[in-house]
This record gives sequence, C-alpha cells and structure tokens, in this order.
Amino acid sequence: MLLKLFLNNFLQTKHLTLFFVFFYSLFCAWLRGIADRVEGLSDTKPVQYKENIAIMGNQEQQPASKLTPESLKQMRFLDIDAKIELSKSKIKEWYDYWDGEVYVCFSGGKDSTVLLHLVRSLYPDVSAAFTDTGLEYPEIRNLVENTDNVIWLKPKLNFREVIEKYGYPVVSKRISGYVYDVRHARRNSNTRRLRLEGLRKDGSFSPLSKISNKWRRLIGAPFKISNKCCHYLKMAPTLEFEKKTKLKPFLGIIAFEGKNREAMYFEHGCNAFDLTRPRSTPLAFWSDTDIWEYIRHFNVPYCPVYDMGYQRTGCTFCMYGVHLEKGDNRFQLMKKTHPKLHKYCIENLGLGKVLDFIRVPYEPACEKPEKGE
Ligand code: SF4
Repeated sequence: MLLKLFLNNFLQTKHLTLFFVFFYSLFCAWLRGIADRVEGLSDTKPVQYKENIAIMGNQEQQPASKLTPESLKQMRFLDIDAKIELSKSKIKEWYDYWDGEVYVCFSGGKDSTVLLHLVRSLYPDVSAAFTDTGLEYPEIRNLVENTDNVIWLKPKLNFREVIEKYGYPVVSKRISGYVYDVRHARRNSNTRRLRLEGLRKDGSFSPLSKISNKWRRLIGAPFKISNKCCHYLKMAPTLEFEKKTKLKPFLGIIAFEGKNREAMYFEHGCNAFDLTRPRSTPLAFWSDTDIWEYIRHFNVPYCPVYDMGYQRTGCTFCMYGVHLEKGDNRFQLMKKTHPKLHKYCIENLGLGKVLDFIRVPYEPACEKPEKGE
C-alpha cells in the first residue's frame, strides 16, 4: 500500500525522469570503466596504426601506446580464460591486418604447440613452418610429422658444417659472439677494446659489451667458437621462407623468459607491426603454468620429452645455458634417454672437449669416468 502510494506520487512529480537520468549516467560510467580497462590491456591499435603509417608512409613509426612492467604484471594475474580471449583478439588483429597472409612458426615445443592450437581454433587453414635443423629430439620430429599442414624448412648448412666453419655455440649467444669478435678483430682495433675492456670508440664504458672475467679464458680455447649457429640453422631458412611467401609469423614467445623478450614486449606489445620483420607473439603474457593448463584442458598432444625430465626441447646439441642447469643437465639426461644421440654428439661432433673446457659434466653422476681431478 505504502509502495503504491510512493510510486503514484513519484510518477506524478516528474522525478521519474531524474531517476532515469541518474542511473543512466552511472551505467555509462561503468561501461567507460570497462572500456578503459580493456584498452589498458590492449597494446596496439592496428586500424589506427595502419591509418597512421598510410598517412605518414613511415614504417618506423611507433605504436600508439606502450606497455609498462605494471601492465604486464596485471596481465599475468588474469585467469586462463581471460588470457585465451585476449590472445585470440591479438591473433584476430594480426590475421585481419595482413589479410590472412600469416603462418605459425612451429618448433614442436610446448609454447608453439599451444599457439598453433589456438590460432587454428580461429583459422583452421593457417599453415605452420618447422625449421629442420637436424638437431631436434626424435620425439619432436614425430610430433611435427603428425601435425597437419606443416611446411618443413631446410637450412643450407648442417650443424657439423657450422661448427667446423664458424665454431661451437657455447655459454650464450652474447659470449660466443664476443669471443668470435675478439678472435677475428685486428690488434688494437676498437672491437677488441670493446670486447676485452668494455671501452667504446668515444672512451665511454659499456660493461655489457665486454666478455665477463669468468669466460675470458674461452678466447684461448683449443676449438672454434661463434654465435653463427642460430643464424645459419634457424634464422636464414625462416627469413628466406618469409621473403618468398610474404607470410607474417606468429611466434610462441613468452615475455617472462628473458630480459630481451620483456623489453621487446614493452616496446612493441604482442603485435609488432613496425619491426623490420613484423611479428606477432600472442602468448607473450602467458606463464609456463598457463601453457600446461591449456594443454591439459584442451587435451592438446605435446612432445613427450617433457615427461622425461627435460625443461626445454630445443636443439639437442646446443650448449647455450647448459652451465646454469641444476640437477642432471641436458647432456646427462640425454645419456639416459637417448644414449646413441649422446655418443654421437659427445664423441663424433666433439662436444665432449668443449664441455670439459667449460667444466660442465655430460655423464650421469654415477657413470662419470675418473679423471684424477
Ligand atoms: S639453439 Fe643452439 S644449436 Fe640450435 S641453432 Fe641455435 S645455437 Fe645452434
């Protein structure tokens, strides 16, 4: 009864209009809040970007907004469903921007496996390309062979030719490159000064440009060292493929896995339209846990080497980062899981002498031969 009286009075006194105006304003503010949040999570605006480069004709132009470490942290805490939706929106942007002329760089590792599954959930006909370095675990090759619509890219040199001509990949790409620079630079050259003392041409000091004291002794190692391996075995065939097909890549790169990757992400976001080699990394803000959650939830077939104790599935004979591995390193594990491969790389390819030099064990602890040390 009271309510009826109130409503009658309310309707007659024209307060109803005010009532609706008030709640409509609240509703609009709420919608704006959501839009702002979504925009904060979205790194670039391809349509605006495309218009801008058309107007300016300048491929070097920066994206409209840049990400910050804070926004990456926020995205890290999104749940897997939100991450999937956001990644899908990045995939759509990339696909639309390049009119479907895209492909997935597929290594057979867990990240690119998830990426391929996600891309094909939207666009089933997108092709994948796998670079056959000849250094993959047999399980990886098997997975790739059993995946539809994958193009196999062949490098012009094989691993043996690369190490014989240029040198072994040791410690890290940076250190291998610096050692190569010193060994090939003229005496008293600027390059030598930079790599040995960290002194630039103008006399300023750049500590990261010099070989660290720990690895200085690599300069006198009795074998060749270089950072050329990735270029000849991976990059060269991939770039040639992209040049020939004009397809633009999706890469399964996770930003949290390295400072350089993070920096690239802050600078360009997921969809880097403005790089000399444009690329999309729609999983950049995912974590390892997300990747495994996705694999299990969607029952995605993955490479079984992860179940053998390996943390990485990259090239079997690569020595980058092996000195940092805790517990059984990749070569100690290989001896147990792939003994023939182990014998081949340690003896035939000479990795044993390199690992000895950098003091990394390659036999399981109980089988390590005594060396009188
Ligand atoms: S990951 Fe290592 S072995 Fe593989 S191509 Fe690069 S440097 Fe060579």
